[in-house]
Amino acid sequence: MQSIDQLLRPNILKLKPYSSARDEYSGRDAIFLDANENPYNVPYNRYPDPHQRALKEKIASLKNIQANSIFLGNGSDEAIDLLIRAFCEPGLDNIVSISPTYGMYQVAADINNIEVRNVMLTGDFQLNPEAIITATDAHSKLLFLCSPNNPSGNCFRREDIQEVLEQFPGIVVLDEAYIDFAPDKSWLPELHNHPRLVVLQTLSKAWGMAGIRLGMAFAQPRIIEVMGKIKYPYNINVLTQNKALELLNQALQTQKWVEELLAEREKLAEELTKFSFTKKVYPSDANFLLVKVEAPKKLYTFLVEQKIIVRDRTNVPFCEGCLRITVGTPMENSALLQALERFQ
Ligand SMILES: *Cc1c(COP(=O)(O)O)cnc(C)c1O
Repeated sequence: MQSIDQLLRPNILKLKPYSSARDEYSGRDAIFLDANENPYNVPYNRYPDPHQRALKEKIASLKNIQANSIFLGNGSDEAIDLLIRAFCEPGLDNIVSISPTYGMYQVAADINNIEVRNVMLTGDFQLNPEAIITATDAHSKLLFLCSPNNPSGNCFRREDIQEVLEQFPGIVVLDEAYIDFAPDKSWLPELHNHPRLVVLQTLSKAWGMAGIRLGMAFAQPRIIEVMGKIKYPYNINVLTQNKALELLNQALQTQKWVEELLAEREKLAEELTKFSFTKKVYPSDANFLLVKVEAPKKLYTFLVEQKIIVRDRTNVPFCEGCLRITVGTPMENSALLQALERFQ
């Protein structure tokens, strides 16, 4: 089995990172004349902590994980991009992913000129571990999985994830953006058993903080160290670090939101199946529903006219005729259902 260092791009392995003023001295009570900041306009005048120490401590205790196993990014998107840039040599290496899934893996790979090998899920949106392993070669550095998957909404079988983790010699990135809504357990406690596993989570969904942009990657310290070395030094701004620290104290509120959204999801799913134009409401482990309907484009346009915006997934493989509907507040959901009554 290859070590992390053998999987890394040689230039990244050799890279000497930018050393910021705040790297060289990180104490608090001092006269700071080192970073050419303006001494006025406290607290916005100061550069943010490049290592996000306080925030990582908070997340470490919430997630029951060591702070040196945590990377924080400007959304999960930053972690996705950095992993590709750390491990994949443009024009040479490739990533393997699944179809259908979240679009950002493909976009981040395309930006970096990295080939993507997409392996179709099975008809019930489950992994096909054998086909995934067959699609890999010696240049396959990363495998992107997403569970619960977007847009299908389901969790993958644990034994299938386990199988690809055992068989694939590169880095497995498991995107758990929706894990707080799922009955299945996170893979976080398994990190120490899988040195090449990276788990992605985010504050954008269950925590209700999509606007402040904070994504989390969890992995063994060597992977986190490399990600920290190649990120922009001040990638998480002061406003985001402070707000996240404050809002992460609201775990109870988050739990209540999740419970309400799950109850609303069940109601919405039940009501949606009653419409004559509904062909199928797929089971969901997330805060959205994938719904197959007759005349999806017409329905989508009709809803837009009613100022209700859903996501048209009709052109996505295995999602022909499907709309993806996020679960909203009880009022928003009943507005949706009333609009659909009018469409009948
Ligand atoms: C919404 C979502 C995210 C969150 O991305 P952020 O950049 O953290 O907001 C990540 N992965 C998937 C699959 C998502 O659907």
